[in-house]
Amino acid sequence: MSDAAEHPTSSAAALRLANEQRVLDVLRQPLPERGRAGRSAHTQAELARATGLARATISNIVRDLSAQGLVETEAGSGRRGSSVRLSGDAGVVVGVDFGHSHLSVAVGDLTGRVVGEERLVIAAPPPPAEALARAREVAERLLPRGAALRTVGLGLPAPVIDDTIGTPAIFPGWDGTDARALATEVFGAPVRVENDANLGVLAEHRVGVAHGSRDVVFVKISSGVGAGLILDDRVFHGAQGTAGEIGHLTLDEQGPLCRCGSRGCLEAYTSTSVVAQMLADQLPGASFEEIVAAAEGGNVSARRALEDAGLHLGWALATIVHLLNPEGVVIGGEMVKAGESLLEPARVGLRRHALDSAAGTPVRASQLGERASLVGAVLLAAESTDLRTPA
Ligand SMILES: [Zn+2]
Repeated sequence: MSDAAEHPTSSAAALRLANEQRVLDVLRQPLPERGRAGRSAHTQAELARATGLARATISNIVRDLSAQGLVETEAGSGRRGSSVRLSGDAGVVVGVDFGHSHLSVAVGDLTGRVVGEERLVIAAPPPPAEALARAREVAERLLPRGAALRTVGLGLPAPVIDDTIGTPAIFPGWDGTDARALATEVFGAPVRVENDANLGVLAEHRVGVAHGSRDVVFVKISSGVGAGLILDDRVFHGAQGTAGEIGHLTLDEQGPLCRCGSRGCLEAYTSTSVVAQMLADQLPGASFEEIVAAAEGGNVSARRALEDAGLHLGWALATIVHLLNPEGVVIGGEMVKAGESLLEPARVGLRRHALDSAAGTPVRASQLGERASLVGAVLLAAESTDLRTPA
């Protein structure tokens, strides 16, 4: 005799719980950033369609979830019926994104929608405890009065293995720090730590330019280069969590020295700092924005430097596209401010080195721009929050 027949009550309860979870999962789905308004609300008919459950079942589940304080309903007019959304009392999440020259903090609801954010420009990354304390100060300013903080998502610009950065060369001062343990102490809430490029791909996939794609590669290019991969709708981490570290892909063994000690890495050709170095004589001291403006204004040296960076990027993309066959590639980070001056040569480089089947893979600019990793940190925090644990 099966367990279900022996324990009809417990199996019915388990089914009910599973159905409740399906409804909650629909209600917590993030909406694309473009044209979104208000918290994600659904009619009961929409919930029935999205979950495949009967209208009567949905009606019972909504009543129960409402009694548990997890959802709220709002009477609608006419045939649309009442709309259902996650309860505003269910709490909020915080996203934090650290970079070499910025500290960004955002507050979001449990669908991952950003409701407030702040970006601080910093000269150099402060030591971990100080950096997190500053992030907490900003979060406290942004948090709605009385809101329960459920989860914090923390993005770091380096490979993260077991919540720790192991490579001192990439984000100095943080190597060896258990970022999750420290941040949990500072925020007094559960924390999820993730590499910034992985957060970028999460954001573009859930609410940005790659919304609706199943397999997508996001390449973040600023002073360094890293990629985030979504394969089969999920972030792909690899065995240790360092999948997507493409900045040190060797393009030319005899190429320029890289900060990692090797030669001819992608990062030694394609990064904001390398482009600035290349133009040290022609545009001394120029910021990356100034270089882009010069290129757009017809400065041949600036145009050539961006074109070279784009061609090398395209060459590296050919390898990635051959390996993974994604639906598209999204380019983010500060470097994407160069727009088509970078993307068009990247497409040329891709076509030059890829097989016909891969050569047409779309290469697009990030929709979320500099905010991508921050939005991803909020989404990660929201998706990691167990709604059934009381706020
Ligand atoms: Zn390197």
